[in-house]
Amino acid sequence: MERSILHLDMDAFYASVEQLDNPHLKGKPVIVGGSGDRSVVSTCSYEARQYGVHSAMPVFMAKKKCPQGIFLPARHKRYEEVSREIFGIFNQFTPLVEPLSIDEAFLDVTNHRLPPAVIAAELKERVLKDTGLTVSVGISYNKFLSKIASSWNKPDGLFTITPDMMPRILFPLKVDRVYGIGNKAAKKLNSLGIYHIRDLFALDRRRMEELFGKQGGEIYHRIRGIDNRPVISSRDVKSVGRETTLDRDTRDKSFIRKLLFEFCKEISMTLDQKNFYGKTVTVKLKTSSFRTMTRSKTLEGYIKDIHEIYEVADRIIRDIELKEDLRLIGVSVSNLTQHPVEQVSMFEDREYKKKKEIDRLVLDINRKLGDDILKFGIEL
Ligand SMILES: [Mg+2]
Repeated sequence: MERSILHLDMDAFYASVEQLDNPHLKGKPVIVGGSGDRSVVSTCSYEARQYGVHSAMPVFMAKKKCPQGIFLPARHKRYEEVSREIFGIFNQFTPLVEPLSIDEAFLDVTNHRLPPAVIAAELKERVLKDTGLTVSVGISYNKFLSKIASSWNKPDGLFTITPDMMPRILFPLKVDRVYGIGNKAAKKLNSLGIYHIRDLFALDRRRMEELFGKQGGEIYHRIRGIDNRPVISSRDVKSVGRETTLDRDTRDKSFIRKLLFEFCKEISMTLDQKNFYGKTVTVKLKTSSFRTMTRSKTLEGYIKDIHEIYEVADRIIRDIELKEDLRLIGVSVSNLTQHPVEQVSMFEDREYKKKKEIDRLVLDINRKLGDDILKFGIEL
């Protein structure tokens, strides 16, 4: 059966919240980002975009392009508050809500009693009425296409991509609009003279696999309208983790710890994106003789910061005596929540804060030492 997937994306979210809270900013080029010149733009209003400012642009450059811009620091607490309100609305339409970031989600409304276009219109109205903000909605039969649809006529957009519009609707888009093609891959394609999806469409499957490995096959199907990824609601996400089979078995702890740190970084980023906090950290190891060991630690409070996750993973790995080389290493964070109530009181505790600060310093030093050891000694 054909699915009905909505992609919802708030318009210029941070900047719109600023304009909502400070009405005198309405209609003005508002640029939200870090305060230093070396920081980057998080979001800017559509008025600022007319001057060529965009997110991820260094602030000093945005100042050059738009000197009259109103530069504001990000108020994450406030954005999270609004985000909760928005997701509350989404959840009233279906429990199948997959958050992609603080202001973006997929909804699977395949089994809803109303047609998707009606749901989309109602959602837009509800979000505007309850929060004063606009959301763009894309409707299609898979995730990739609904995301393309939501960006079609932003802001305040509503657009549907149906099977009969495929593949031509994609042809004029740049290759980096395809899920799975990042900056690096796009550059590689550009260097081969492939700029638009039209050009990509001309490549056969084998060529795509040569270029991108297994992922190439998926991209080949995706631009032909085939994308079977399910919508996974936050309630169904039990853990966030990373693991890898090593190129060469090892029991070198400084190498293992370095790898764990990289995993923790990715996990922390994913948690942040999905607005999750976790309580349990698990390290998984598989030895050369295929013996699997898992060790977990459950904390009092919820965490998502890279240093806090790594601290726990590191403690676990330090306590394990390795009698054999390892062939697989993994780490995951589970016991997830999106509303860590306990955390507030925990972080308000001054003693706790001080202790954390010291822990962090020690951790930084350890890490630097680890890096040096790695630079001088080990090559794997
Ligand atoms: Mg957005």
